[in-house]
Order: sequence, then structure tokens, then C-alpha cells
Amino acid sequence: MRRLTRVAEVRDLVAAERAAGKRVGFVPTMGFLHEGHLRLVDEARRRADVVVMSIFVNPLQFGPTEDLSRYPRDLEGDAGKAEARGVDALFVPEAHAIYPEPPRVVVSPRALAGRWEGAARPGHFEGVLTVVAKLFNIVQPHVAVFGQKDIQQATLVRAMVRDLDMPVEIVVSPTVREADGLAMSSRNSYLDPHERERALALSGALRAAETAHRSGVRSATQLEEIARGHLASAGIEDVDYVAIADPNTLEPLVHAEAGAIVALAARIGRTRLIDNVILGSP
Ligand code: AMP
Repeated sequence: MRRLTRVAEVRDLVAAERAAGKRVGFVPTMGFLHEGHLRLVDEARRRADVVVMSIFVNPLQFGPTEDLSRYPRDLEGDAGKAEARGVDALFVPEAHAIYPEPPRVVVSPRALAGRWEGAARPGHFEGVLTVVAKLFNIVQPHVAVFGQKDIQQATLVRAMVRDLDMPVEIVVSPTVREADGLAMSSRNSYLDPHERERALALSGALRAAETAHRSGVRSATQLEEIARGHLASAGIEDVDYVAIADPNTLEPLVHAEAGAIVALAARIGRTRLIDNVILGSP
């Protein structure tokens, strides 16, 4: 595995692979890798000859009161995991390589970014889309893989690629969970054992909504109440949103047919976690 820190090195490597007729797959991450990230590598490998992963904790997508400075990092551990999983090139830029100066031009999403995560984290998706656009221009992949875990992010990346005619295929890969249902996340490392136990209520709330949907409940209000009830009974009071939404537009729904998403965000102590499911999926 090649480890690269400079933009020019990535461009050279990708140019050589492309010239040799190879397909390039890309997995952007913020590191502290877990099985969820590594499953994206597997997906990229299935669809490309060369897999590039980036690890970059993007300051532009963190709000002033968020966890940028304490975001977990383990570059050596990550490099080992990435290499073992078959990553060909690991791009680990310093912040100044990506932002030599404060950007004068950014990618600004419209209404889709104003709801749910966007409402709770003003400016977040502008930061995400700007860095993803920059990384796409640096890596120039044929295909890029994102996780369903961050479903609004994946939806916005798809929208950006379509609206700005970016020549990259976007693939969204299912959420990987711990054995007990907790969605894997680098931020789970913030949880103490007590909080880890309570965090199970997030996936539990989603499962409760799924069960109700399977038994015929279609009312979004009712599904939301069921999920919120589950969170409340686990003592989780700091809930940012429980969304019953259209999977493509993320507009709130009145009736949730199969394919609708249930997405939620809640705080366990100081740790903010998100999760979602697609209703009616096996
Ligand atoms: P992050 O490092 O948190 O920015 O995540 C990098 C990529 O991994 C994003 O596309 C995430 O959606 C994806 N990802 C994070 N956690 C999971 C998970 N548990 N299952 C699947 N994909 C994930």
C-alpha cells in the first residue's frame, strides 16, 4: 500500500493507473477505521481495479462547538487495517494540503441540506460537499463508495454529482452494525460502558418502527411516536430529530410505504450519534 500526503502524488498515481486502463475506486473517510469503513473498501474493490482511501478530518464540516479537536485518531492502526483490507493507496493529507488558504469558493447545497442533520449542524453539509468535491477532483475516481449510515450525506453527494455533472459513479453501501445492533461509528469510542448500553436504544427505536411498519402501521406520526417512545423509555431525552422521510428527497412523509427511511439523531452524554433504516428492507 502506498501512503501519500501530497495532492500531486495522488494525481500522479491515479494518472498512471488510468493511463494503464485501470478503474479507480475511492473511499473517503475521517479515519479511526472500523468494519463499516472496511466494508466500503470491499465494495470499491468489487467495482474497481485500484482502491484509494482518504483519511482526512475535515475542519470545514465541524461547527465551532463540535468535536473537531477531540475527534479520535489512530493513523498507524488505520494504515494497518487499510492495507490488510487491500487498499492500494492511502491519502492522508495535512489540513494545509487541502486548504492552503481559507476557501473563497465552496459547494453550497440548497433545501435538502436544511433539514435533519443540516438543521442540527448549520454549515455541516457545505463543508462535507466542498471537501468531497475537492477529493473527487484530486483522486478523479470512476466510482466512490459511501455508507448508508450517513444517509443524508450520501443523498447530497448524489445530488451534487448529478447537479454539477461530476463524472463519478456513487455507490451507497449498507450500514454495518455491532452484534447487538449499534451502528458502527468512530464516535462510539467516546461512550463509557453505561452510555454504550444506552446507545443501543437508537437501533432499538429504529427496529421498533420497523416492527410496527411490518405489522401495518403506515402513519409517519405514529411511527415517529413509536421510535421516540423507545428512546424516552431508555432515558434518552436529547433527541435532535426522528425523521420519517422520502429516501430520495428526504422530504418528510405523511404515509410511510416500503422504501421510506427512518433516521434519527440523539445525544448520549456528550456524544451525538445518528442512525437510520430503510423500511421494508429485509
Ligand atoms: P466517516 O469516517 O465517519 O466520515 O465515514 C466515512 C464513510 O464511512 C462514510 O461514507 C460513512 O457513511 C461510512 N460509514 C461510517 N460508519 C459506517 C457504518 N457503520 N456502516 C457503513 N458505512 C459507514
